[in-house]
Amino acid sequence: MAALRNSIDAALRARASRVVPGGMWGHQRASGLSDAHPQFFDRGLAGRIWDVDGNEYVDLMCGWGPNLLGYGHPQVEAAAREQAMRGDALDGPAAVMVELAERLVARIPHADWVLFQKNGTDATTLCVTIARAATGRRKLLVARGAYHGAAPWCTPSPAGIVAEDRAHLIGFEYNDIASLDQAAEAAGSDLAGVLVSAFRHDLARDQEMPTAAFARRCRAICDASGAALILDDVRAGFRLHPGGSWEPLGIRPDLAAWSKAIANGHALAATTGGDRFRDAATKVYATGSFWCAAVPMAAALATLDVLDRQDVIAHMVALGSALRDGFAERATRHGFALRQTGPVQMPMVLFDDDPQQARGRDFCAALLRHGVYMHPRHNLFLCAGHTKRDIAQVIDAADRAFADLA
Ligand code: PMP
Repeated sequence: MAALRNSIDAALRARASRVVPGGMWGHQRASGLSDAHPQFFDRGLAGRIWDVDGNEYVDLMCGWGPNLLGYGHPQVEAAAREQAMRGDALDGPAAVMVELAERLVARIPHADWVLFQKNGTDATTLCVTIARAATGRRKLLVARGAYHGAAPWCTPSPAGIVAEDRAHLIGFEYNDIASLDQAAEAAGSDLAGVLVSAFRHDLARDQEMPTAAFARRCRAICDASGAALILDDVRAGFRLHPGGSWEPLGIRPDLAAWSKAIANGHALAATTGGDRFRDAATKVYATGSFWCAAVPMAAALATLDVLDRQDVIAHMVALGSALRDGFAERATRHGFALRQTGPVQMPMVLFDDDPQQARGRDFCAALLRHGVYMHPRHNLFLCAGHTKRDIAQVIDAADRAFADLA
């Protein structure tokens, strides 16, 4: 196991601790993984990963979201390789940029245009900038506890942040219309936008789908005031609905942020928007040295080809349902009470009476020993590369992990 003192993982951690502050950054260090979770990985294939010590796991994190079709998807990787042979970060974009933008505009109902970036934070930040540029206003309504990235205006850590970075954010409770109304009232005529996640997927708490009434209220506040409704679809994009996560609710955003899954693991983010925000999107200065890179765009096009051909969401929902049933049944059999919330393809699994997720960490550590990688307090991700055999293995591993705990 990776946490063993003589493991390759431990040796890499020791070396990293000397040349990387804290040995690791951000979510890998601060999201509450157990000591048993390996930090370094060697490879991935379909729905499985191998750590640097050669241990194989069914992977229930999917690279924290980007792995949508399966690691090493042949068609995506062939497209990426082919583009890489011709060039990646050239003096400007390759032709694939236009084709990809056209395909996304055709697929995403609210989108009349697309701008490409690298990370989810780039996209959420750009959405906010465009909303402010379009409206000439400052206030942004944001759900308390929601994660929108690691820039000063949204990072969860107070270190290095000054009050002015967040001076114009007003918090509300996700799915709570009264608190949303109160926040809108506080913003008054200075309201630039309402920023919402696809669903409530905050760390270490039960997930919640948005209610139709809450989504309608977000839309109505923006319609009444001219502010932008911004959907942060970075985490859920393409896992819930092909055209955007709020499509089933019949509520369309003005701007949306995408990343993670859109290029099946290649570094790409996108900001989509409607025509009302096109001028503002033209005026803001947004760019990066790698934002024109062609390889991730070629990978994204190939990802869309697969999504057009294959009902990836139905596959993940079927496997996710089996996983949820299997976890519930085995937990009951061993006398544990689990709470499984959110979409089955992005489940949160928490133990009752486990406020600090200590039992969750023990459970994950046991699962690692039985060949499954999952997170004790972050939502999990399924992918199209997972098979019925993978899920059966996870349920069997859970059975043994519950027995270990008991
Ligand atoms: N928004 C959401 C909902 C996310 O889940 C994330 C990443 N976990 C981000 C924004 C930021 O994306 P990135 O880490 O790629 O900057």
